[in-house]
Amino acid sequence: MPKNGFKSITVNERVYDRFYQIFFDQKEKLAMKGVNSFAGYVTHCLEEMMKKDETFSKFTPKIEKISVDDKRVILNDIIKNRIVEVQFDQNKLSCMFCNFDDCKHVGFCESMPEVIEIQGMMQFPKKRRTKK
Ligand SMILES: [Zn+2]
Repeated sequence: MPKNGFKSITVNERVYDRFYQIFFDQKEKLAMKGVNSFAGYVTHCLEEMMKKDETFSKFTPKIEKISVDDKRVILNDIIKNRIVEVQFDQNKLSCMFCNFDDCKHVGFCESMPEVIEIQGMMQFPKKRRTKK
C-alpha cells in the first residue's frame, strides 16, 4: 500500500523498463533538477505532459475579454490569435467569426456578468409589453 497522499498504478513491464532505463541513464542530470527517485522521475514526466497538454489542448478555450458595449462584445481568441466580435442580435448573441450562435465565443460571453446585465435590460421592455 502506498503511503498517505500517494497512489499506485500498475503499468506494462515493457513500459516500466523503458522509463527505468531512461531514468537510470540520466540519473545525474535528473538529480540536478531535483528528481532523485524513479517514482519522482515518472511524476516529473507526467507533470511535463500535463503542462504541454494544457497549452495545446483544443478543449480548453483560451479567450479574454477586450471590450463590451450594448451592441457587441469584443474578444481575443488566444489560441486562434484572432480578434472575435460577438454581436447582440435582439436578445441573442451571434459570433461574427464562426457565424454561429452556440460556439465557444458565445458561450464565453453568456457567462460574462456584463452580458447577463445587458440581456436583462433587453428583456425588461419585452416583459413590460406582455403585461399589458
Ligand atoms: Zn465563435
